[in-house]
Amino acid sequence: MTVSASSGFDITAFSTTEKLFKFKKIQYHAEPLSDYQVYIKIKACGVCHTDMDFAGLPDTILGHEAVGEIVQVGSKIESIKKGDLVGFAYMKSSCLDCLLCHSGDDIMCRKRKMFPEGLNNGYSYGAVCDGRFVYKIPEGIEAKHAGPLMCAGSTVFSAIYNANVKPTARVAIVGIGGLGHLGLQFARAWGCHVTAISTSRDKEAEALKFGAHEYWCSKDFTPEYIEKAEKFDFILSTVAADHDYNTFLNLLVPNGEFRLVGIPPSDIKFGPALPFLLDQKKFTGAILGGRKINTLLLQFAARHNIRPQIEEFPMTVRGIEDAIHHLHSGKARYRAVLIAPEDEEEEKMVDYLYEAQR
Ligand SMILES: [Zn+2]
Ligand SMILES: [Zn+2]
Repeated sequence: MTVSASSGFDITAFSTTEKLFKFKKIQYHAEPLSDYQVYIKIKACGVCHTDMDFAGLPDTILGHEAVGEIVQVGSKIESIKKGDLVGFAYMKSSCLDCLLCHSGDDIMCRKRKMFPEGLNNGYSYGAVCDGRFVYKIPEGIEAKHAGPLMCAGSTVFSAIYNANVKPTARVAIVGIGGLGHLGLQFARAWGCHVTAISTSRDKEAEALKFGAHEYWCSKDFTPEYIEKAEKFDFILSTVAADHDYNTFLNLLVPNGEFRLVGIPPSDIKFGPALPFLLDQKKFTGAILGGRKINTLLLQFAARHNIRPQIEEFPMTVRGIEDAIHHLHSGKARYRAVLIAPEDEEEEKMVDYLYEAQR
């Protein structure tokens, strides 16, 4: 990577290819910064399920959980400066001038620009971003831990925050993976009674460590089990698979809410609509946070010492492919994070050592 204020930036990045889950190293040139842009030297980037959804798109730079150091700022950027550690996420920009943008819902702005549009994504050693859409990482949170907060953390935090979950609530987090393990930590710090629900029997000890008071295995769910079970005010499902939605509706108290953040592969089908009418139960979805939510999320995570549990992979072609395969095979515990080398020399060394131990 070379930097010069007058000539722009030569950036090394990793893009998808025609072959699924195969990556290549590329270089591209970015123009000098405009007034509101910043140049970030990327240090780490989380690997999210959504990256896999776009992995079939050739010549795309993936990664939307990126964190790095500010190298240069445009003339109109005042809130961040050279040397600051910042993160960026899904949303690249929005119109800044509609009611959604004015009310903190910029993530739903009709003119927003979203990942993976553009070259300024996370599997890269650098990125030019709109400085109004990057987030200063609070002191004490390392780059590799801040990365997964930018999408996984933002998604579960936004879901809990926007549902106005009360600290007295009984909360269930469904799916104990990249999102769920952070959901447990947020819900616990919120003050709630927290139940982890998983299809697996072998995550109990870790779920309790992340903050769950109870652990339920959904393989045990029978009509009698559901009937007898103590019900929830709020169920947050992080599972990107089809659900037995009626089971979860039956696990809600009247006025309770089931919120989905994973995208199920098939259409959502319910049984009788009566629970929605007679018991005022709610079925909702949530997208990750915009600027307001992400700022609050980082402050909350710093205050309550919330961190993802991560597995590190080098940000090289091999490292990226291994990380993606690891996630795809369901082995990630709980978030794979790509670590960018400090400079070209370290990059060569990392490549060499990583190949040797493979
Ligand atoms: Zn994501
Ligand atoms: Zn807008």
